[in-house]
Amino acid sequence: MGKRIGKAVRILLVEDAADLAEAIEHRLLRVGHAVDWQRDGNGASAVLAYQTYDAIVLDIGLPGRDGFAVLSELRSRGDKTPVLMLTARSEIEDRVQALDIGADDYLPKPFDFREFDARLRALLRRRQDVASGITRIGALVFDRGARKVLFEGRNLELPNREYRLLEILIGRLGRVTSKETIAEHLFGFNDEAGPNAIELYVARLRKRLEGAPLTIGTVRGAGYIAEASADSVDE
Ligand code: CA
Repeated sequence: MGKRIGKAVRILLVEDAADLAEAIEHRLLRVGHAVDWQRDGNGASAVLAYQTYDAIVLDIGLPGRDGFAVLSELRSRGDKTPVLMLTARSEIEDRVQALDIGADDYLPKPFDFREFDARLRALLRRRQDVASGITRIGALVFDRGARKVLFEGRNLELPNREYRLLEILIGRLGRVTSKETIAEHLFGFNDEAGPNAIELYVARLRKRLEGAPLTIGTVRGAGYIAEASADSVDE
């Protein structure tokens, strides 16, 4: 996974079971990540007060304060560092509570290390995508930083207005956007363009997205909705 991320990733591991912690640490170091290991909740909170991480792997049952307390303190001061919570397999309440408090994902113990790698990789990639303004819908990549839309690695080379229309719709994925809202964002005040112009841009955009895992639906009398096809949601 070090290859994919491309830069040193710093991870805080909070786990009191030494054998498990050592196994996780070994795995993270092997792919080139930097790891800080804390065995108890108070130590974790103390370190998090001044140190930032790319991700936190957080056990629930810890000496001192538990993982829930560490996480809720982190979130209450607006810290959005991705957190992968380690939960007990039998405790559904733990998983629900972890997500409620603001964990990004959880992994029930005992787990297969390949699953651990995959979950952490997904967490780090999501963070990287958000930071760089990338939205992935299967093989369709909307890259705000580069102002590009790629499908299966090919640049769709959208003209400015079609790019902006897609940006509006992807920003509201799965929700209806009214023609008025689209017009406000797409055209200037002095622009003569009306609803017909929007229909025209939608038609052009649909043509460009043929075969892509994103459809633009018309909701009669309400507006438009962009939706990811079901099989593309989890890449
Ligand atoms: Ca524990």
